[in-house]
Amino acid sequence: MIIAIDGPAGSGKSTIAKLVALELGFEYLDTGAMYRMVTLRLVNKKISLEDIRSIEKELKNMKIDILNNRFFLNNVDVTDEIRTPIVSENVSKVAKIKEIRYKMVELQREISKSKNTILDGRDIGTVVFPNADLKVFLVASSEERANRRVKEFLSKGIDTDFQTVLAEIIKRDEMDSTRKESPLIQAEDAVLIDTSFMTIEEVSREIINLVNKRI
Ligand code: C5P
Repeated sequence: MIIAIDGPAGSGKSTIAKLVALELGFEYLDTGAMYRMVTLRLVNKKISLEDIRSIEKELKNMKIDILNNRFFLNNVDVTDEIRTPIVSENVSKVAKIKEIRYKMVELQREISKSKNTILDGRDIGTVVFPNADLKVFLVASSEERANRRVKEFLSKGIDTDFQTVLAEIIKRDEMDSTRKESPLIQAEDAVLIDTSFMTIEEVSREIINLVNKRI
């Protein structure tokens, strides 16, 4: 069974997906983390996003492994590094590149092969698994999403401010929704859930109810 959770930045996708996966005994795949890993690699190696040949070479030499929700790039644990501002600021530019998307989508399908998996991202229900058993599109107001991100940063001891986070979220959503290749868009058959005034438990309960109806 495949469950696709899509939606804009900070709509609660990964928190909810993790919880639902735990409750249902599913694997969880954070596809955003994969684009973040590619971004980290390109930023560290100072590769221009116009230089498609070098990007393709990097993609060939890049080994992505995910183990117990830790992310390894060529055997190095980059779980914390992929959440840093430099990665967040650049990831949407990287995710626009079609050569990168093809490779990530291929990997996502491979990782989820023959396993009950819940994936979260931007194009899971539209491109990666258009035949997913359940598609959910999570939304929340920009202000609420920025508030959640600020709290998340503070809990990790990262100092930030609301306006900066809000601006970053709005900019990223705009880029993700207007790009040519696999834009962020609700699949026609996705169930829309507005999480603005819901607790994490309420959202995950609603998704589990939807899953149970489809079994
Ligand atoms: O989910 P997260 O915020 O970590 O995703 C980071 C970025 O990766 C998104 O803003 C988007 O540009 C890209 N992404 C994507 N397709 C996905 C998942 C993430 O383009 N399936």
